[in-house]
Amino acid sequence: MLRFSLLGSGSSGNALLIASETGKILIDSGLSFKQLKLRAEAVGETLDGLAAVFVTHEHRDHVNGLGTLARRLNVPVYATAGTLEGLPGAVGELPCAQAFEAGDTIAVDGLSLTSFSVCHDAADPVSYIVRCGGVKLGVASDLGHAPTLVKTRLQGADALILESNYCPDMLRHGRYPPSVQQRINGRHGHLSNHAMNSLLSSLLHDGLQQVVIVHVSAENNTPELVEQLAAQVLGDHPAGVYVARQDVPTPMFEIRR
Ligand SMILES: [Zn+2]
Ligand SMILES: [Zn+2]
Repeated sequence: MLRFSLLGSGSSGNALLIASETGKILIDSGLSFKQLKLRAEAVGETLDGLAAVFVTHEHRDHVNGLGTLARRLNVPVYATAGTLEGLPGAVGELPCAQAFEAGDTIAVDGLSLTSFSVCHDAADPVSYIVRCGGVKLGVASDLGHAPTLVKTRLQGADALILESNYCPDMLRHGRYPPSVQQRINGRHGHLSNHAMNSLLSSLLHDGLQQVVIVHVSAENNTPELVEQLAAQVLGDHPAGVYVARQDVPTPMFEIRR
């Protein structure tokens, strides 16, 4: 059994709380310590006993609350060496920083996390597969495109957390200057709705239970559009679809096999 909630998701802050019967971790800590606490409580959890924080990359929307959280709760932080070196100065000293290499598997309190490299404009960004008691959760956010490695890693997941950052038309006709548009839709930027759709359709299988769409741009996308597109891909597949929001946590999803 594995439970998870996106405590917040979007360009202003990302944090994913994952809990099993044996342990609890965060992937990214891009909300303030206060918000992390409040939102964990809002989904019936607490940060007490948090075993570790795994970081995907050093962008501020993923590490804003990291330093305070790690110091207050004395929690170890796991990240690639490149991510640790690239952390903004504002994060401050970490009581315990553990460097790993992309591709490594790390076990913490009965949860097993396998990292894999993603294409994104950061020092050494990764995403994660989380396994616990036969349940597999696949996470893919903050990536410019999804090559075979990413698809292979996510294959067979019982639950998927996938980025669907922007609608290409809205981006093209929106307020962002050309340089920012190029950053977003470049091969080291973010996944578009279309890219998410094609990734999701390549990952469909009978055991898939839940799809959560994340990092949806407030400027160049809408939750309704994303939900509609994902629902089209799923067709009559019984898996649930949920679009994570910036300001409120998702429900605590419970995945069993
Ligand atoms: Zn990023
Ligand atoms: Zn991000």
